[in-house]
Amino acid sequence: MNAPKNHLTVIHEQVIAAGRFGASRGWVPATSGNFSARLDERHIVVTRSGRDKGALTPADLATISLDEPLPPGLSAEAPLHVARYRADPAIGAIYHVHSTTAALASRLHAASATLLLQGWELQKAFAGVTSHTVALTVPVFANSQDTVALADDVEARLGELPAQSLAPGYLLAGHGLYAWGRDGNEALRHLEAFDVLLQLQLDWERSQR
Ligand SMILES: [Zn+2]
Repeated sequence: MNAPKNHLTVIHEQVIAAGRFGASRGWVPATSGNFSARLDERHIVVTRSGRDKGALTPADLATISLDEPLPPGLSAEAPLHVARYRADPAIGAIYHVHSTTAALASRLHAASATLLLQGWELQKAFAGVTSHTVALTVPVFANSQDTVALADDVEARLGELPAQSLAPGYLLAGHGLYAWGRDGNEALRHLEAFDVLLQLQLDWERSQR
């Protein structure tokens, strides 16, 4: 691990700020959720298990290799982070939240395994999306406590879907949302856009019944 200390400090501050923002929005209740950021090509920083995401300190963050077995003490969901960084070198940050909106929307769309976003202006908050008319797929996966196997399933499906139609995130049914971006600011923008879009989708579907 050869990254200069100041870069590590910047990454720590970014993850700590993201955790604080998520907590302020009520997205990470009761120490749930986890946040990570890429330190360099083969290393990431990720939150340790069971920490209050609204009050993170550098001691709550672990630096891990993408090429070595995971050390103890990490979140059980760390494999989902690692698999995303391995699959897409452009990803700089991944934020995972247990918001009620994501938990509810994902469960309602679990049977179809897909939530389709289309017609919302805010879709343009996602990098590369220039029109509300674009149909964006948010894959939905059945929840599982076997996160190593789940990570394999997630990456297999994400790899099969056309990249231009994929929203920068996926849902775990009854559980929450994973969202990512090229850096921390973009990941946070995507997380916030998802929250509003999923709420809009829920309200829209309710109004159509
Ligand atoms: Zn979770």
